[in-house]
Amino acid sequence: MKVLVLGAGQLARMMSLAGAPLNISISAYDVNSDAIVHPLTQQQLGTGLTKAIADADVVTAEFEHIPLPVLALCQASGKFFPGETAIKAGGDRRLEKQLLDSAGVRSAAYHIVNNEADFKQAIQQLGLPLVFKSALAGYDGKGQWRLKQPEQAAALWQDIAAFLATDQQQAIVAEQFIPFQRELSLIGARNAKGQLQVYPVTENHHVNGVLSVSLAVAGNESLQQQAQQMFSAVANQLNYVGVLAIEFFEVDGQLLVNEIAPRVHNSGHWTQQGADVCQFEQHLRAVCGLPLGSTALVRPSLMVNILGEDTVPQPILALPGLHLHWYGKTKRAGRKMGHINVSAADTAQLKQRFLQLIALLPESAFPELTQMAQRLN
Ligand code: AMP
Repeated sequence: MKVLVLGAGQLARMMSLAGAPLNISISAYDVNSDAIVHPLTQQQLGTGLTKAIADADVVTAEFEHIPLPVLALCQASGKFFPGETAIKAGGDRRLEKQLLDSAGVRSAAYHIVNNEADFKQAIQQLGLPLVFKSALAGYDGKGQWRLKQPEQAAALWQDIAAFLATDQQQAIVAEQFIPFQRELSLIGARNAKGQLQVYPVTENHHVNGVLSVSLAVAGNESLQQQAQQMFSAVANQLNYVGVLAIEFFEVDGQLLVNEIAPRVHNSGHWTQQGADVCQFEQHLRAVCGLPLGSTALVRPSLMVNILGEDTVPQPILALPGLHLHWYGKTKRAGRKMGHINVSAADTAQLKQRFLQLIALLPESAFPELTQMAQRLN
């Protein structure tokens, strides 16, 4: 089968690698250059978008910030999964909040801000502290402001007003600050028959707003049940087909949705070595109408992101249970360049291997890993 992926980054690349054994070939649409490219080599394939859609059996996406005319074109083909509505909901925090409300799942209380009166009303209605997030094009903590003290409000409004003035379509979603203990995510798939398969909940650690480490958390039934219930509510509400990721805040054992990603997700990369069928293959199975695979955890696993580095010490490859995944990208400060998966027979061994890995990695490029390792028991 031929699958066209909107977006030509590492997620399309890993879909391509996972699809090859199933004879699924991937071409990718690079939104920046408006070109169809090979997802591994980035070589231009010479077909325009319209022909690429016509040639494909299935169209899908690896990210949600896609121009609306492109989404409309794909939707009109009748072979776009998870489809326009889901991708738009992932790319616009206003639509995302509406979706969460209509699916009846808990998320932080919010107020939409388009002008100064809305800004003041948000503070009055929700109280402080608040997090202000750009409705469009926000990811990895970009386009966010915090307000803790009322006396900082006037200066913050100046910043937000200047930001809103740059784009007519833009708005701000003001959200109550959630004093969470942990950030978690659930990755799962839904197929066209409405069948669901979800992976174990993942615990996520961020450094400066960017994901650093994800750890599969098996065995917490209460969290798994809550996450699964919210996952099915959102996936069913969207009549979703494909892999969907939902990020949560955990507050005293209760989950609130932070955001959704209508695609394969960075916090699910551990599934490449830790799960029976990885998230990339699972997504392709779902969108191609193939049976979903088992999402069972085959061994305790974690993932470490490689940010802004294009080399790692070679001896890490000698560690048992370690797999290195580069994305073939040009080095840039903070850029997601690759990731390392570590797996083991049990959690104690995973912690031991993680500590061995940390000892080999430069602390400056991989900050805070030691604190994260302490959480593994
Ligand atoms: P986001 O891009 O929405 O995932 O936000 C980036 C990070 O900011 C999250 O991973 C959280 O650590 C933090 N954050 C976002 N929203 C809130 C909130 N309402 N309360 C507390 N922290 C938040």
